[in-house]
Amino acid sequence: MDKTILVTGGAGYIGSHTCKALKKAGYTPVTLDNMVYGHDWAVKWGPLVKGDILNAADLDGVFAKFKPSGVLHFAAFAYVGESVQNPAKYYHNNVTGTLSLLDAMRRHDCGHIVFSSTCATYGVPKSLPIPEDHPQHPINPYGWSKLMIEQILRDYEHAYGVTHAALRYFNAAGADPDGEIGEDHDPETHLIPLVLHAALGLRKHIEIFGTDYDTPDGTAVRDYIHVTDLADAHVAAISRLLDKGASMMLNLGTGVGNTVRQVIEAVERVSGRKVPVKEGPRRAGDPPALYANAGGAGKLLGWTPRLSNIDATVETAWRWHEKRGR
Ligand code: UDP
Repeated sequence: MDKTILVTGGAGYIGSHTCKALKKAGYTPVTLDNMVYGHDWAVKWGPLVKGDILNAADLDGVFAKFKPSGVLHFAAFAYVGESVQNPAKYYHNNVTGTLSLLDAMRRHDCGHIVFSSTCATYGVPKSLPIPEDHPQHPINPYGWSKLMIEQILRDYEHAYGVTHAALRYFNAAGADPDGEIGEDHDPETHLIPLVLHAALGLRKHIEIFGTDYDTPDGTAVRDYIHVTDLADAHVAAISRLLDKGASMMLNLGTGVGNTVRQVIEAVERVSGRKVPVKEGPRRAGDPPALYANAGGAGKLLGWTPRLSNIDATVETAWRWHEKRGR
């Protein structure tokens, strides 16, 4: 069987870690990335094609040349705040872009897609941990764009037979344990890299967004899942679809929640440095607590996170940021 997989957004954070995992599992990852947020240095395990999912000619070129048997679709904009300010950008790139990709898959007879969805499709959860059948009511355009694509995938399977795995990530974190790649966003908005920057003295302090939540220490709770564990789940999902497995929509989390203060303490333990903290107001649109019931992925994919404790996750990120000095 042809083991070539097209990876849209393969030059990004989760995409690049997944390319490494694909290669290790015997696949050839072909990255298609418009390089708006991607990095050349992150593409090491297969060819890089610079192009856009919104451009049918770019897609036709890559499908004709590499004839992938499946697609891992990471390419998307993912800044929640920006999606509120500029929803047009998010619906166009994320939703129209995915339609463009799905149409190219149909033109080239490619029948399997793994899609990066998000726990942001649940909005503010009514119960914790969040199971996959929890109602989905996003509270920002980013979450809506991902939920719309989930529905499109269901409809495309019904009408055209394209099978899918929609993987709802909780908070992706950490870096490649071998230190080859890691997280590098510009602008950076995520908690763990920002706390590491504070530990490295690259920023004055970390601001805690909200200390009055109804949580054990008043700060918000998230489920930080190691990026290499996410990558392994993608490989398991595409393998299952290629083996004629049924479509699936699954949470990818550890099932364990950590507060913002617990993350800061983990960084202090791992780095041996004091992190200056400033307490600030809540960030608009932040749910108090999000953590997964991740049992579905265990059952269907035989996947369980290997690095589910926060210190182990932070440790890989610390090594990456310390080595790069940023
Ligand atoms: N957070 C914070 N200070 C920061 C960045 C994030 O207190 O400078 C909090 C944020 O409010 C949330 C958690 O850290 O409760 C994780 O935020 P992140 O942006 O990493 O991911 P999100 O959960 O928003 O996808």
